[in-house]
Parts: sequence; C-alpha cells; structure tokens
Amino acid sequence: MRRLLPSLVVLTLSATILTAQNAPVVAIRAGRLLDPDAGRVLTNQVILIQGTKITDVGPNVAIPAGAQVIDLSRMTVMPGLVEAHNHLALTYKPEPESNIYYYTYVQESTALRAIQAASNGIQMLASGFTIVRDMGNNALYADTALRQAIEQGWIPGPTIINSGIIIGGMGGQFFPTPEMAQQHNIVYPEYLDADTPDEIVKAVRQNILFGAKVIKICVDCKPYGYTADEIRLVIREAAKSGMKVEGHVQTVNGARNAIEAGIWSIAHSGGLNEEMHTLMAQKGIYRAGTDTPDTLAGHPVSPQAYQRNVASLKDAYAKKVPLTFSTDADYYVAGKTRGEVCMEFLKTWKDAGIPNVDILRAMTIGGYKVSQTESTRGPIKAGFFADIIAVPGNPIDDVDALKNVQFVMKDGQVFKKDGVMTPASFFHGGPVNGWRIR
Ligand SMILES: [Zn+2]
Repeated sequence: MRRLLPSLVVLTLSATILTAQNAPVVAIRAGRLLDPDAGRVLTNQVILIQGTKITDVGPNVAIPAGAQVIDLSRMTVMPGLVEAHNHLALTYKPEPESNIYYYTYVQESTALRAIQAASNGIQMLASGFTIVRDMGNNALYADTALRQAIEQGWIPGPTIINSGIIIGGMGGQFFPTPEMAQQHNIVYPEYLDADTPDEIVKAVRQNILFGAKVIKICVDCKPYGYTADEIRLVIREAAKSGMKVEGHVQTVNGARNAIEAGIWSIAHSGGLNEEMHTLMAQKGIYRAGTDTPDTLAGHPVSPQAYQRNVASLKDAYAKKVPLTFSTDADYYVAGKTRGEVCMEFLKTWKDAGIPNVDILRAMTIGGYKVSQTESTRGPIKAGFFADIIAVPGNPIDDVDALKNVQFVMKDGQVFKKDGVMTPASFFHGGPVNGWRIR
C-alpha cells in the first residue's frame, strides 16, 4: 500500500493537469472590471479561464481561437462576495418552531437540515456569495456534509469554511432543564460541552476529525464563560491543524478575554465598545459584527437596537478594525432567498456612513482574509480560482447594485447567466472531483 500510494498520487495529479490543459478556454469580455483592493474600475478588460482557474486578465489579452466568449461588456464584473457568518443548515421559521431555534433541532433531522443547507448554498451563490463561513448550529455536522458535497462535485455551492459544532461551557447557548440536558442529552449536537482543559482539547480535535475548517467557541454565553487562558488553549490546539478560532462574544468582559488571547475573529457586536474596537484594530482581529438591519419582515429590530448596530459599525470603521460582511441570517424571511436576506444587511453599512468602496472591500478582501483564501481564491488574478460575478451598474457608485447579480461563475463553471441560474453542469452522478475529499 505504501509503495502504491505515491504512484496513485502522481497518476491523479497528472490526470488533473491533463484535464486543465485540455479544458476549453473561456474568455469573459468585461465592460467594467471592479478591483476592490485598488478601489477602481477598469474598462474593456478580458479575463481568460481554463478549467477551474483564471489564466490571464488585462486590456490587451488575446482571445485564443475556439475560446468560448462570454459577453459581459455591458456589466460590471467583479470578484465573488464573502458572507463571513452564516448557518446554512439552520432556518428557523414561524412553523413549526415559532422562530425559536432551540426547537429547530428537535423538529428537524440532520439529514433534512443538510438538504436545506444545499438549497441555502445555492441561494447564496445565486446572490454572488462565492465563499460562506458557516459558523455552527448545523446539527450533527450537516455543514461538513455540505462542504464535502460541493467540493466532491455533487452540487453547486459556495466555498464553505465550516466550524462543525460550536464549543462552549456546559449548555452552550441553550438553557435546558436538567431533565432535557442530562436525561435526554438535548444540548448535543448543537453545542459541544467543554468545561475543562482536557474537554476543550478533545472538542477541538473532534471538530477537526469531522471536517471543520475553522473553530467556533462560545466565549461568554454563560456567566462561567472562557478565560483568556482557556481561549489560548483553544487557539493553540486549533493552530496545530492550521485553523483559526472565531468567538461568539456578547459581553465586554468576554471581548476583553478573547482579544487578550489573540482570537482570529469576533462574532456579534454586543460586547464591542470603543475600547474593544481600539484593541481589535491594534491586534488585527476581524470583526464579524452581524449588524442586523431594521427591514426584515418577521424579524423586528427595535429603533434603539438598530441605532446601536449602526453606531457600533461606524465606530469600528473609524477605528480601522478589520471588517467582514457577516449576517448571521439563519431564519426565513417570506419572499426572500437566503442570499437576498443577506443583501438586506447592506442597509446597516450604508446607514453607518461607510463608503461603498469600503463596503465592497469588507465583502471581498476582508472576507478572503478571514477565510484564509486570499492567496488562492478571491481576487481576479492569473492563477486564482475563477470565482467571478457581474452586475449592471457600478457598485462603487451604488452598492445596492449588488442586489441584482446577473452572472456568477464558480470554479470556472457558469452558474448564473443573464440573471438565470443554469447549474446543470454542476450536477453529477458521482464525486467527480474525488471522493477522498474530507
Ligand atoms: Zn451565528
């Protein structure tokens, strides 16, 4: 077996290279090409794609004979968007759970939720989100199943950076009765109880074994939340596998512990005051603020709460905290897809007075960095995976142009064109990209 393996690897590699060399060339004519990093729009550009990757981009790129040409000369072409905090295998609804997600997982199996996740992933991709960080509350690893299904080639969907089960002190975010928690084990699998150092290490390892790509902890969901030392232990254990740690934080004290420990990203803004923002900026800690707008039907946000959201985001921007576009949109809003619900969050960013170009940077560059894909996936550059979207209008002038994504390419395959999803080429009767993807 040991002798066989290297030759298998070589065979697989050369097959992949052969496929890329033989793959037809696709040329995109971009009337306008938005570069969020530079904050500018270039006109009349050509992007060449072969297989899954971008091979060339520029104004004078020759289109090879026989290339398939996609004409987006009337569009603004730009890199794919990142949603840095969602839960694709969770959709709480008026029925049957009265919008209370505690009840979602006693009503809906992991299998059903995995299928919902597949649908939500497609809805996100249709809105231009080519990367989604999926931060837990996905039953028994439905998030890993979603990532594997997309990576193996069963279904279309965004690149998924998933956390597995949220790790926290006893109870996680739930408040179960002793009967429910101890006799019926009702906290697991939504939360992994980890109260001692040994349990913390083991919980991190369990998530990694079962396919997590980032670790998510409850920093302060309970009064006995994690200390800075306990968070450091999580970070150390995750780092062995090259993974970063996001903390759910809801108190200033929790934020202080997470920042002191040097956490990678902080979810939610409840514990983030001006002092915490200053410290986050100094340490380069990402803010996944989940800044909920006041426009989502069935999910009212009080005027006071909304003003707090806006003021917090405004302060974070002023203090130069690394920002990500993150929503926590894990509920049903009548008449809207999951992607459309996420796009509603643009309102909070506009009301915070953040310039469009910096909103776009949070949705792209900030997202690639927090997802750790910035050197492989995101920017429209030769050698990068071809994740490309297009909208009419210019999002630098009007960021709401993003609500009208007409074209989506994911890994070099066209998923949406002229506003219509045509994902047939993504579906396969088998794991065409390899069943070993774990
Ligand atoms: Zn969340």
